[in-house]
Amino acid sequence: METITSLPTMQLNGMQVSIDRISQEVIRRLAERQSSATAVVDVTAVTALTPEPMPIARNEHLELVVPIGISVRHVHLCPEHVEILFGKGHDLTIYNELYQKGYYAAREQVMVVGRKRAIEKVRVLGPTRPYSQVELSQTDALILGLKLPVATDGADPACQPITLVGPEGAVTLTGGGNGGAFIARRHIHISDTTAAQLGVNHGDLLDLRLDGPRPTTLHGILVRVKAGWRTEVHLDTDEGNAVGIRSGQMGTLIIPGQ
Ligand SMILES: [Zn+2]
Repeated sequence: METITSLPTMQLNGMQVSIDRISQEVIRRLAERQSSATAVVDVTAVTALTPEPMPIARNEHLELVVPIGISVRHVHLCPEHVEILFGKGHDLTIYNELYQKGYYAAREQVMVVGRKRAIEKVRVLGPTRPYSQVELSQTDALILGLKLPVATDGADPACQPITLVGPEGAVTLTGGGNGGAFIARRHIHISDTTAAQLGVNHGDLLDLRLDGPRPTTLHGILVRVKAGWRTEVHLDTDEGNAVGIRSGQMGTLIIPGQ
């Protein structure tokens, strides 16, 4: 009767060693490496710094489905600048009415000149305003070679100087609170009655949920209240393109519980 007492062997560094011994050695070294790796990453220290997120109970909130308008780059002009750019006695003429009653895209267009380049045929919006301002996207700013702030209007001191060229003349807006170029802060127009119904105030910041092809929630939608305004969110072309939303599509405004 034959008893197998020896394990299969192989030649290793001139020594005859059993395969089983080699397997055991590999397993031992792997286990050693495993334990040293564990020692380097101190799991307890990491969890102490970043505790597991906990759900937070929120108050009930209101949701309001609202139309979205995408604002393409445009210019608002004071009456004096209309005359300089388009000629003495010139008035803006209506190209098409905007969603907000009394506001319109004018036939008039200007060239906007930055540090690096210019953009032609930028639409003027009417009616005229007490001061001129240029509302651009971040992409426009990069094309023009300008570093623009996100602002609510041309009265913001961070607004930048910019030059406008019309068929009859040119104007340079000085920025610094006297009218200039900026990137419009995302905002919602609502009437005073709607604001009262929703319990929101001029200057509040709300969230807007977009269930489009790229679902997103935009924060910091500035509430602007004026009697007669129709409810409408205004985003710029960069924001609309980033989330795959076009003018006339809807979003959901989130109004926090009172
Ligand atoms: Zn607006």
